[in-house]
Amino acid sequence: MKDARTVEPDVELIASLMAAGGADLKKCMQCSNCTCVCSLSTPEDDFPRRQILHAQWGLKDRLLTDVSPWLCHYCGDCTEHCPRQANPGEAMMALRRYLTGQYDWTGLSLLMYRSEAWAIGVLLAVSLVVVLLFTVPANFGFGLLSQAGPAARATVMLDKFAPKEIVHIGDTLLASLLGVLLLTNAARMFRIATRDTHIPLGVYLRHLPGFVVQGVTQKRWRECDAGDSFKNWLRHLILVTGYATIFLLVVVFLPWFQVQDHSFHWNSLLGYYASAALLGASAWMIGDRMAQSGEMHRFSQPSDWMFPGLLFVTALTGVLLNVCRLLDQAMPTYVLYVVHLAVAVPMLVVEVPFGKWAHLLYRPLAIYIAAVKKSALQTQ
Ligand code: SF4
Ligand code: SF4
Repeated sequence: MKDARTVEPDVELIASLMAAGGADLKKCMQCSNCTCVCSLSTPEDDFPRRQILHAQWGLKDRLLTDVSPWLCHYCGDCTEHCPRQANPGEAMMALRRYLTGQYDWTGLSLLMYRSEAWAIGVLLAVSLVVVLLFTVPANFGFGLLSQAGPAARATVMLDKFAPKEIVHIGDTLLASLLGVLLLTNAARMFRIATRDTHIPLGVYLRHLPGFVVQGVTQKRWRECDAGDSFKNWLRHLILVTGYATIFLLVVVFLPWFQVQDHSFHWNSLLGYYASAALLGASAWMIGDRMAQSGEMHRFSQPSDWMFPGLLFVTALTGVLLNVCRLLDQAMPTYVLYVVHLAVAVPMLVVEVPFGKWAHLLYRPLAIYIAAVKKSALQTQ
């Protein structure tokens, strides 16, 4: 017969955390060194020791309502000072992966974190759909190579190959789908993380400006006093400006941005900035991960490579496509156009709502939730 005071560890939770990279957390003996050295940990949001304890005990509900894993910026300071090699920094990373899977109502995120085959298979499937749109017989596709005609084969005529009106409709539909998936997952995160606290409407409203500032600047990262934090924050900011620029150009301003022939247009300069920012920042991230520089890059899951890897290939094919267009190489331009989309679309469709990119919304939302919960408890 069960004792009412018995703690029943959630075996599935523990297995999920192990699969997500938290295998070492079982070595933790709760000495608290990690929480003491962490410059982002506060009495109200103390981490990572407490979360590791909850994970060791398999307390799923406690972990789900706790947004602290998102308040960690993975500087690795705690891992350096852990006497048990329990790797608390990576434990927090594993918790973020686990939580991403729990917020996602489709279940796809969890499948991809648990299985590399699923992660690669989903990316390849979306990629294949993109390629087929450009290569299936004329009656079933748009902007087909076969429809481009002899003139478009002799000189670059992107409008013949991929009419920007149609591509723009596709972009808009894709952005809407991404928005719905990401926002519904974020709403789930919000509901789960606030279900243990009554928060008055006024408190929510008072902290909204902070949410926007954090979302745009990730400025809390600057409060971390570990060695590489400024460099990592700056690199991330450059990456975000590049990504935001190209997203706006392609999704909102495509009719103005997509150049149809091999001429130079001043509006392309914005595209060059975005490409340089994405190429530079993603190459820098990949280089650090290959060199295993700092605690932050010592342990890598497949999803850690996928994020900068896809970004790098997307930016590189975008640059090559533009070079071929300026050199008036019609066929290479069209082929690179398809390759570029075959990498960029799955990266957006899969990584934004289900993968690592979701942190762009989850992290500022977590900071917001932590702030409103703290305010609500103080006013009670
Ligand atoms: S993770 Fe390491 S430093 Fe942190 S409480 Fe456990 S044993 Fe101590
Ligand atoms: S990795 Fe850095 S920010 Fe995260 S818990 Fe450890 S010391 Fe704190």
